[in-house]
Amino acid sequence: MSEILLIPGPVAVSEDVLAAAAAPMQNHRGPRARALYERLYERLREILQTRKRIVLLGSSGTGALEAIVVNLFSPGDKLLSLSVGSFGDRLAAIARAYGAEVESMSEQWGWGNDPQRLRDRLRADSAGVIKGILITHNETSTGVANDLEALMKAKGDHPALTVVDSVSGAGAVELRTDDWGIDALATASQKALAAPPGAAIVALSDRAWEAAEQAKMPRFYLDLLKARKAAEEGATPWTPPVPILTALERASDNYLKEGREAAHARHARYASAVRAGCMAAGLSLFAQPRWYSQTVTAVRVPAGVEAKALLSRLRERYGVVVGGGQQQVEGKIFRIGNMGALAERDLIGAMGALELALGDLGVRVALGSASAATARMLAGSDGSVRMATARAAV
Ligand SMILES: *Cc1c(COP(=O)(O)O)cnc(C)c1O
Repeated sequence: MSEILLIPGPVAVSEDVLAAAAAPMQNHRGPRARALYERLYERLREILQTRKRIVLLGSSGTGALEAIVVNLFSPGDKLLSLSVGSFGDRLAAIARAYGAEVESMSEQWGWGNDPQRLRDRLRADSAGVIKGILITHNETSTGVANDLEALMKAKGDHPALTVVDSVSGAGAVELRTDDWGIDALATASQKALAAPPGAAIVALSDRAWEAAEQAKMPRFYLDLLKARKAAEEGATPWTPPVPILTALERASDNYLKEGREAAHARHARYASAVRAGCMAAGLSLFAQPRWYSQTVTAVRVPAGVEAKALLSRLRERYGVVVGGGQQQVEGKIFRIGNMGALAERDLIGAMGALELALGDLGVRVALGSASAATARMLAGSDGSVRMATARAAV
């Protein structure tokens, strides 16, 4: 039985994307590879809404975050971390590992960042001591989406460089990289872009590229100036994961055929369908409603149930794979992702499986409650299934 993969990355990948990854090997410096990189840059610029140079890295999303930190900053630089969960903590930890002085302006897990708090902190820094601001667009560990546009407005004209981890946001929600003034954006292939893991994407503003010329943190493999120089010559500095890039090209092609706005609407619709299903089953959600993520739903494990038992029951008996909680919420929540090549039937089926698995573990759930609520939400307020979106998502 094939599984329904509902973890928040790596996500389910469509068959044509998988087939693209299985193409014969090619010269990574040949004319075909050059054309592939060019098409990828063009498509990714459209998805990320930037006209700036994009750099592709052979790494997971963490590599993109590390690349940004070491290329923009110097040891001793003061960075402001707006962490709201474990991925925000990871970005702060990367900065500390390379000698940055990180000031934490974190929020309780389940909450997003308050733009006013950022505005006030930056106002108090009239000397411009803060060199960078580390922001998580979508915090995958807690199912929280930040209001990135409001945070960028709150940052205003403070000279700090803004670093945005949009690994689980880019492609799924509005992200106007250039218009919002984001200096460094990181994302990766295996989340909303619906390709296999292995390629990361960095987009830098002109200011960020200038900073990279001065920054003193050590770097070699992830040197973005080397990557830019190679990209200008239609190459990459080192051997890239070519099969992942051919798959990413196909995935981004599919994405743009669906359309950026339609893809955003699909993620919002799927996330609200998952939330409706969970709530109808009597489960409570971990994130505060004003910060619900459009790509991942964090659900509290009901009292008397062991998270591990629930996840393994779902996987082994029903073929539905969801994510567990990390760090301080380990054993307390589980997470349902809604990115990737998923159809309505996957979500409705997964919700039915969740009802059964909870029942197996002694939780009283009315059969059909969650799956019906999910189906109703997918059908929309007029009760009609929107077939155009359904097809595009398969
Ligand atoms: C998935 C993810 C990452 C990157 O994780 P990798 O395993 O390195 O790809 C970073 N930040 C967020 C918010 C993520 O969801």
